[in-house]
Amino acid sequence: MNSFCPVMWREDSTPDDQKDCKECGLYQQGSRMIWGEGNPKAPIMIILDNPGAREDREGNPMICGTRQTLQKAAYEAGIDKEQIYVTYILKRQPKCGYDKEKTRKICINHLYAQLEEQKPKLILCLGNVAVQSFFGNPELEVKGLRGNFYQMNGYQTTVAYHPLAARRRPNLYPLLLEDMQLVASELQKKI
Ligand code: SF4
Repeated sequence: MNSFCPVMWREDSTPDDQKDCKECGLYQQGSRMIWGEGNPKAPIMIILDNPGAREDREGNPMICGTRQTLQKAAYEAGIDKEQIYVTYILKRQPKCGYDKEKTRKICINHLYAQLEEQKPKLILCLGNVAVQSFFGNPELEVKGLRGNFYQMNGYQTTVAYHPLAARRRPNLYPLLLEDMQLVASELQKKI
């Protein structure tokens, strides 16, 4: 019987001309830059707030809780991992305090460049930070938007709870799964 097992998504390497990005100053205290994970040609682009750890303290590869829960929900919704590409509003994970609004406004330009290049069929924003940044409205919340698609930055977009929130609050997991199923059924209409 087929059962779910989390896998390490392959990292999409950062373009050479972006590797030394210092545009927002986060390079001084953030993690290394991560451009994205999964299949860059995938029809579904998932947007998170920032990258999670891909290595433990000793530098060994690890699959963080966010990815484990996200992969599980995708698997249960019938979405193949090759249909998914994951990227972030911030390409570095902040390690201490920073100017959130300013930094997100600067770094999101990398995401717009990715969209131009990759042209996904559907976008799924996970968590309030990704939603507010991608929708350009700090008042919006997943709670009020989930269950529908919106035309955002030229792309058909929907939203769901952050996988880490669904991991910490198991009552949110069925809602995350429901939203992944919505994405799966919409994708079926497009392929
Ligand atoms: S967070 Fe984004 S904009 Fe800031 S230095 Fe890193 S890649 Fe550049």
